[in-house]
Amino acid sequence: MNNKLYGNLIFELSRPGCRGFHLPDNPFGNYPIANELKRGNDAQLPECDEVTVVRHYTNHSGNNFGVDNGFYPLGSCTMKYNPVINEEVAARPAFANLHPAQPADTCQGALAALYGLQKALSEISGLHEFTLNPFAGAQGELVGLMIIRAYHQARNDSKRTKVIVPDSAHGTNPASAAVCGLDVVEVKSTPQGTVDTEHLKQLLGDDVAAMMMTNPNTLGLFEKDIPAITKMIHDCGGLMYYDGANLNPLLGECRPGDMGFDVMHINLHKTFSTPHGGGGPGAGPVGVRKGLEQFLPSPHVVRKGERYEIEELPFGFAPDTPTMNVGTFFGNFAVLMRAYTYILTLGKENLKNVGKLATLNANYIKESLKDVYDLPIEGLCKHEFVFDGLKNKDTGIRTMDVAKALLDYGYHAPTIYFPLLFHEAMMIEPTETESKATIDGFIDVMRLIAQKAEQDPQQLKDAPLNTPIGRVDDVLAAKHPITTYKQSIDEQV
Ligand SMILES: *Cc1c(COP(=O)(O)O)cnc(C)c1O
Repeated sequence: MNNKLYGNLIFELSRPGCRGFHLPDNPFGNYPIANELKRGNDAQLPECDEVTVVRHYTNHSGNNFGVDNGFYPLGSCTMKYNPVINEEVAARPAFANLHPAQPADTCQGALAALYGLQKALSEISGLHEFTLNPFAGAQGELVGLMIIRAYHQARNDSKRTKVIVPDSAHGTNPASAAVCGLDVVEVKSTPQGTVDTEHLKQLLGDDVAAMMMTNPNTLGLFEKDIPAITKMIHDCGGLMYYDGANLNPLLGECRPGDMGFDVMHINLHKTFSTPHGGGGPGAGPVGVRKGLEQFLPSPHVVRKGERYEIEELPFGFAPDTPTMNVGTFFGNFAVLMRAYTYILTLGKENLKNVGKLATLNANYIKESLKDVYDLPIEGLCKHEFVFDGLKNKDTGIRTMDVAKALLDYGYHAPTIYFPLLFHEAMMIEPTETESKATIDGFIDVMRLIAQKAEQDPQQLKDAPLNTPIGRVDDVLAAKHPITTYKQSIDEQV
């Protein structure tokens, strides 16, 4: 991109008097605006012609990396392809032009779709009832924990404040428990990467509110002891929470409800293919087993005969709040419609293949690279796995360098330095939507980088070299972020 011509900021392209729009003649006449409603100074707006604006934004959009540009193996984030049909359905005027407060009689189709999604999620997860209201996985976790807290409170069991979280858990798990006012207790992993049940035994007691788990866990490993773990937690009176941010490996293979989980959330933006990243948009519906549905937030779509109605449930999170909404109306409606479209497009038969293919793709990459990258946990993984940097530790090349070098070859980096169990963690999740040719291309580049680490490490240290912005100073960017734009370059120094 030629920055001089197209500018980093649209303000840099502004030329006084330049216009890119044309207003129609005003047929209404002029009406005076009261002085107190008028601004004191002219608004500082860029003045540009249309073609300059189009080129500016088109060039900037090319600087973004997205699933539509290339392979995006960002572990735990499930950057799968988002089919265009999802967008077409979500954008239909019958959906997009609805008012959220419209009476139920006038939007039966939209309510039918919401109801259908609630039921589909129940069938997929094995849980009894779902709310579609939460806007993200992390919010779903918080809502789920509030439901668990309300359940204990409704039984007058107020001493349960402990939430057990594995040390491999996603960072949002302990954060959500803390935000909910509960105490986080960490359970260790065994050297094989699964929950240490001996350590778990020591943490049990009548103060346990819940245990939060992901299965397969964040290392991509299936927790084989899950029946024993759920029994231990249930026997001491706690509930099992399932972090279902990513259901990819599970689809068609098993269900959290059948594993004994009581409450869960699902990230529709990951598993059910809606565009996400950079903070949104998302949807984190929460499901509960039978007997907990009265603690779900309102509103909720119910079916009465042939009609769909919006129900405010009689109970809420706290005994003194009759109903409680955790967001606006039914949450992120467009995301919900994209996810429902994806589920219906694949159908029961094809959804069942998602888990198998996601698992196959991850294992294929792992096995193809483990001679040059350090695989701390051997064996079959599920939808993702973790390398601990390069196998050859003498090159001085770190995971950060590999991640930056990948950008030069048109690949998004994997998730790096997470989970925290390994110093040079590199978490790779290919998803089921990638072809063998794409995956082979990635494997070739990963091998090439491993080779360069030995032959020309400095080139990797300087990477990326082909991107609009080269290697940034992470520390400086974090410690001294420049978050405002000053018109003059001189002023910035
Ligand atoms: C992504 C993710 C979350 C958080 O979901 P958000 O929608 O980003 O809030 C929680 N747990 C796991 C395991 C995840 O992968």
